[in-house]
Amino acid sequence: MSAAAEQMLPLSKPVGRFIGERKKMLIAGKWVPAESGKTFPVYNPATGEEICQVAEGDKADVDKAVKAARKAFESGPWPTMSLSKRGRLMHRIGDLILEHLDELAELESLDNGKPISVARAADVPLSADIFHYMSGWCTKRHGVTIPLNVLYTPGVEYHSYTRLEPVGVVGQIIPWNFPLLMAAWKLGPALACGCTVVLKVAEETPLSALRLGEIMQEAGLPDGVVNIITGFGETAGAALVGHPGVDKIAFTGSTEVGRLIVKAAANDLKKVSLELGGKSPNIVLADADLDIAIPGAASAIFFNHGQCCCAGSRLYVEQQVFDKVVEGVSEQARKIKLGPGLDPKTEMGPMVSEIQQQRVCGYLDSGFKDGAKALTGGKKRDGRGYFVEPTVLVNTRAGMKVVDEEIFGPVVTAMPFKSPDDELINQANNSIYGLAAGIWTRDVSKAHSIAARLKAGTVWINCFNIFDAALPFGGYKQSGWGREMGEAVLEHYTETKAVTIRL
Ligand code: NAP
Ligand code: MG
Repeated sequence: MSAAAEQMLPLSKPVGRFIGERKKMLIAGKWVPAESGKTFPVYNPATGEEICQVAEGDKADVDKAVKAARKAFESGPWPTMSLSKRGRLMHRIGDLILEHLDELAELESLDNGKPISVARAADVPLSADIFHYMSGWCTKRHGVTIPLNVLYTPGVEYHSYTRLEPVGVVGQIIPWNFPLLMAAWKLGPALACGCTVVLKVAEETPLSALRLGEIMQEAGLPDGVVNIITGFGETAGAALVGHPGVDKIAFTGSTEVGRLIVKAAANDLKKVSLELGGKSPNIVLADADLDIAIPGAASAIFFNHGQCCCAGSRLYVEQQVFDKVVEGVSEQARKIKLGPGLDPKTEMGPMVSEIQQQRVCGYLDSGFKDGAKALTGGKKRDGRGYFVEPTVLVNTRAGMKVVDEEIFGPVVTAMPFKSPDDELINQANNSIYGLAAGIWTRDVSKAHSIAARLKAGTVWINCFNIFDAALPFGGYKQSGWGREMGEAVLEHYTETKAVTIRL
């Protein structure tokens, strides 16, 4: 073990085995290196040091993985397995995730930088819950019979019914902000519907999904049903999207890459679902319970270091409580304990990578140039690791990059409004995105009428960042196509076949 790796200790024995190891990819039920033999480093964002090397999968490996997934789909047991057996197997994956909760949380914290307390309380249990919830759908979703009324064949009777069939081989591409949870969001519904999968994980954070691959094997998932590729977006990701053997692409990440994926998938008209960026408005009315709204608005932006597609990054506060709310949110920000994710006392870890740290700091510079003022934070933390101070910006308005664009960091822009009228709604909806929104008020009728007028796939009232496996999540406008989770996501992974027989 290198001296650099030793500095990252103490790690538990199961996680320690990742240090320095040249991990392989899961293809056709085997752990194999990249065809090219190439590997690339994975870094600990709290120190900037290398954790380990992983295989650099590219076109050749994607091709092998797609062929394995195709074989598993056309002739393997998964799509035709009894639905209760499929459900039990998926449930077992959820159970095993919980059995390995501490290990997975530690791995996630090491790789992504998030506080281990958060990974333990949120990322890992929610990932298990997706498998548990989706396992139930295996036995509960089916076609229907449909009475016909065919006008041009009078007197003839038909029997018609629909079958919900798996869409086939699915390519799934995920980001680095919730590595294990995004894998679960994607794999859960695809597996429940009987699809087989090639999963391309984010280059920054491949470790927890690789461990999940082992767990799925331990649960008894047949070979080739899930194949996991580590590699870069421009090579492995693009090869997956362009592969003619893939029936559907499910993507979570930036709107910019989402657009590239749609263009690439247009060649053979693959089905595409997209969960993209956001710039969510969070609206505090003067009548809100500020004891809840202030910590709520802070958590809406600072949770996961602002690296959430739904982060409440545009804070709109009714004028008479503006100073109190922004000062309160700033006070919360000042109290947040920054540190390495693996320190149990840490409340906010580093940005996932140096690039992400630079990106966030670039936005801060542009905000200051445009006249924004930081009530707190406003810069990166000097020294090791990719830390950025939680930041509250005022003197901001639409037209500034910090207000219009997704920063994906712990930076909130706060703006006052006069009253909850059309102007506020227009401001809140003035974005290319439409992923989520928050409203804080004691007035129930105002809450519901504002909720109805916001162009967003999710509206949280007197809460924020509330997720459940049963609740659909996804975006209006350029925040995406389709929904994740709930019953809604299953539509992406099934084809409806109408069968008619003349009686
Ligand atoms: P990204 O570039 O969109 O990456 C997401 C995934 O797509 C990664 O697995 C990436 O591979 C892959 N990818 C990149 N280019 C591709 C291509 N041409 N074809 C197929 N796959 C491709 O996001 P990022 O670089 O990680 O972060 C950039 C910005 O995206 C963030 O600042 C944020 O605004 C946004 N973002 C949004 C979400 C969300 O949940 N909606 C999550 C993360 C990031 P690599 O790992 O090699 O890049
Ligand atoms: Mg990238």
